[in-house]
Amino acid sequence: MNDFSLATREPRPKPQQSSIAKRDERKDVDGWGATVFTDGVISLSSEVEDSSDNGAGLMLPQGSEQEIDTNVELTLTINTGTKKFTRKAIVRWVDNSGGDIRFGVQYVENIDLTPETHQLNVEEIRVDPAVAMRIPAAIAVRRKILPFVEINGVVHVACCDTKNATVLNSIERMLKAPICTWEVDSKKLETLLKEVYGNDAGQLALPMSAQDKKKKEDDNKGNEAVDLAEDLLYAAFVRQASDIHVDPTAKGARIRFRVDGELETYQEIKVDSYVELSSRLKVIAGLDIAEKRAPQDGRFSHQFSGGNQQVDIRAATIPTKYGERLTMRLLGAQSDDLTLDRLGFIEYHQQMIEQFLNRIQGMMVLTGPTGSGKTTTLYVAMTKLLRSRSVNIMTVEDPIEYEIVGAAQCEIDSNSDKISFNSALRSILRHDPDVVMVGEIRDKETADIAIKAALTGHMVLSTLHTNSAVATITRMVDMGVAPYLVAAALRVVIAQRLLRRLCGYCRISRPLTELEAISLERADLVGELIYEPAGCVYCGDKGYKGRIGLYELLEIRTEWAKAVSEGARESDLLAMMEADGIQSLLDDGVSKLLNGDTSYSEVLQIASSW
Ligand SMILES: [Zn+2]
Repeated sequence: MNDFSLATREPRPKPQQSSIAKRDERKDVDGWGATVFTDGVISLSSEVEDSSDNGAGLMLPQGSEQEIDTNVELTLTINTGTKKFTRKAIVRWVDNSGGDIRFGVQYVENIDLTPETHQLNVEEIRVDPAVAMRIPAAIAVRRKILPFVEINGVVHVACCDTKNATVLNSIERMLKAPICTWEVDSKKLETLLKEVYGNDAGQLALPMSAQDKKKKEDDNKGNEAVDLAEDLLYAAFVRQASDIHVDPTAKGARIRFRVDGELETYQEIKVDSYVELSSRLKVIAGLDIAEKRAPQDGRFSHQFSGGNQQVDIRAATIPTKYGERLTMRLLGAQSDDLTLDRLGFIEYHQQMIEQFLNRIQGMMVLTGPTGSGKTTTLYVAMTKLLRSRSVNIMTVEDPIEYEIVGAAQCEIDSNSDKISFNSALRSILRHDPDVVMVGEIRDKETADIAIKAALTGHMVLSTLHTNSAVATITRMVDMGVAPYLVAAALRVVIAQRLLRRLCGYCRISRPLTELEAISLERADLVGELIYEPAGCVYCGDKGYKGRIGLYELLEIRTEWAKAVSEGARESDLLAMMEADGIQSLLDDGVSKLLNGDTSYSEVLQIASSW
């Protein structure tokens, strides 16, 4: 539901009447569009004329063949230019008198997520650190109160006692926004509070709020940059961001996080703060702070004060028009609970991978663009191997993204020639490995050594930058590796992509339209139920939470090996794939769409990249 009634707690700060009246207030809007999905399978493009928290007024231009009737239920995806959201709605009035069709809809509850009816599972929420930082850490921890997300101007707060009006009123004053309180399990909340604010319960811990900072500023003015950097790294860690971008602008800098593959703005800072922050970050990354006109890169482990969490970060700088841009990649944030199942592999694919992992020799290659999660899949495979067999696993990587207990991991040094992919790989083979993982095959030399290793009693795991499984085969041949060697060594090729996973709490169903079915090359699926993102307390109002993998898995069996060694071209191999009924990336995307795991717009990215 869009609106979280303010009537969640007594005493109320404002009379209920006024807030209801405010919700119904209709404002004219400009440039908003909507896609209207009716009960059939037709979608209509419509203009939004006015909007309130409870509904919208829409207009279909003259000549629309579709009839709109009152009391019909619709699904609307409204695009405001900056935001997209989906609602179920009922048509309340229709006006055909002016030629155009005007109609008004009232949103109906799709999900019943209010504190009165829903017990919030605090383990499944995603904390927005910018919201959590709006109250002092000490107070949050002592009072067991966690503001975790702001939706439509209302801050949602998890706490153990929703009846303590004095405390909640003071929290509301600190947040300067109406709050919606959720009573949650005390033990679980304590755990989460420790994760968010650090381990020193009650003491001043991270991240610090504005008040804390002010106090500390007076105490010790020089430490501002330290705090800024620490807060930034911690916020990114809590938000489970994969990257931090610090982009200098004319006025200062814009700081963004990449979360689930999408960039989101975290903060805009002034020039002074930017200068201090960038120097501080360069110091901790071990870069030369005097050098501002050449790109640099470095790597560091950062231990957060106030807790025992630690994060490994790779940092890079590049001079841009307004100053140095900094990009930091947070490595291996959540490697503990990774399994093939969690990555989104279907059972059949899991079995094929497990079969490969039982072999003694041969090569498995993962392929996909940067950020498609292929390295993660390799880590999962290695972890699985280590659990099931006593093997010597050695890796050569750039960079080491996750630490694997029990494997010997080497990192190549891009700043010197001493250790490169092929030189490291050559040395590794003298250390009697059973399994060799090569982070990426970039040239013929590396490909040659890897293939030879796979043919001489080693299991070789690697990745390659191509778009599909069959393209991997032709790419290796193009690199100059003899086709018969590729055919003999390569056993499994997996093409991979990551799509955003729909939040299971708030997704909204609608039928797949004819046009959409055709875009997916599956006209037979018209009218099938699919889901759209909506937004709720669990997903931080984003509609998506986490990501899911799509896979195309090719096993090189006898007839395939024969074709490859005879120099089959990509088109021949694609035809073989179709004849063998092997699922393509798009097929896997469509099945995950129908399963409600992801949305049409996410899957369309795969379809259009072909
Ligand atoms: Zn949600």
